[in-house]
Amino acid sequence: MSSCSLAYSILLLSLQELLALEERMGSVSTALTEESLSKCIKTSIYESAPIKDATPSCSGSHDDVKCSICQEEYAVGDELGRLHCQHRYHVVCVQQWLRLKNWCPICKAAAEPSLPSSPPS
Ligand SMILES: [Zn+2]
Ligand SMILES: [Zn+2]
Repeated sequence: MSSCSLAYSILLLSLQELLALEERMGSVSTALTEESLSKCIKTSIYESAPIKDATPSCSGSHDDVKCSICQEEYAVGDELGRLHCQHRYHVVCVQQWLRLKNWCPICKAAAEPSLPSSPPS
């Protein structure tokens, strides 16, 4: 049960190292602002494990039960953040990530779409 906080502290450590590195290199310009960051993430509360039969068209959806940033499985009540590419992470994890990189850790899709392909209805 304590592995969660351990993994998270490891994540924070590596993020802090990355931040320190980028500060030294003077290349923090790729990070998103807090405002655009929140626009990129669609938050939701994780309620239960996905029912396999409910998603017949989505193969490989087993990855959706855990966060690919901290490698922890989601727990009921966790706040999740979904990117435009439909990949989900803990909202705290993806916020930390997007402060460093403006792309999805899994598919490298831009977290902040430059041009909307279709106008909202
Ligand atoms: Zn996570
Ligand atoms: Zn993605």
